Amino acid sequence: MKKHLQQMADYLLPHTCCFCQKKTHRSFELCPPCESQLPRIKQACTVCGKITPYHFPICVSCLKNPPPFDRTYVLFPYESLAARMITRLKFGYELRYAKILGQLMAHYLIDTWSREPSVEKPECIIPIPLHLKRLKERGFNQSVEIARPIQKRLHIPIELYAGHRMRYTQAQSSLPQAERKKNVAKAFATHKNFRANHVAILDDVMTTGYTVSEFSRALRKKGVQKIDVWCCARA
Ligand SMILES: [Zn+2]
Ligand SMILES: [Zn+2]
Repeated sequence: MKKHLQQMADYLLPHTCCFCQKKTHRSFELCPPCESQLPRIKQACTVCGKITPYHFPICVSCLKNPPPFDRTYVLFPYESLAARMITRLKFGYELRYAKILGQLMAHYLIDTWSREPSVEKPECIIPIPLHLKRLKERGFNQSVEIARPIQKRLHIPIELYAGHRMRYTQAQSSLPQAERKKNVAKAFATHKNFRANHVAILDDVMTTGYTVSEFSRALRKKGVQKIDVWCCARA
């Protein structure tokens, strides 16, 4: 019933596509032709999400040194229109891109899970925390905003009180590769009352994976057994 009402509302009140400005009868602002222009990942490591030219499900570096998380779901390579959406969200403060990215992520997860019915779904979505100072500068946490439509669509709750950033770190993208690991070392703390067995960490962009790894290590110390990473774009 709710679904039919939503379809009717989308038909009567169409949205404007964020790229071509044409009307679209979808519940978010991206038309199917523009969606088909988004970059796609052909092959990636199932563990760390790194894009690889090989047919192996796990990359060499994950085989040698498994990261502290179990599986990564990546929506796009960090390029062209996908990168533009994330930049406009984070630095242009255009929250509609969070809604689009969240809807696309939800579709992608539903699609993947329908092909792999034995996959266990996480108990909660944990958007990667921002330091309070950065949160004040930006006014919102982009990962929380991306998580909202996913929560609505998949009925998996968002957990905002799993942990926080203790240290104000420089943006990873502003640092050379060698300094990134040090920059996020021990950056996170978990909250006293947080308990979960299987979680999904949501991050907008994953580059080296150091930030997600550091947060995963903190969650593991709290007894989390299984960690999935949902990331919109992988560099
Ligand atoms: Zn369009
Ligand atoms: Zn890997």
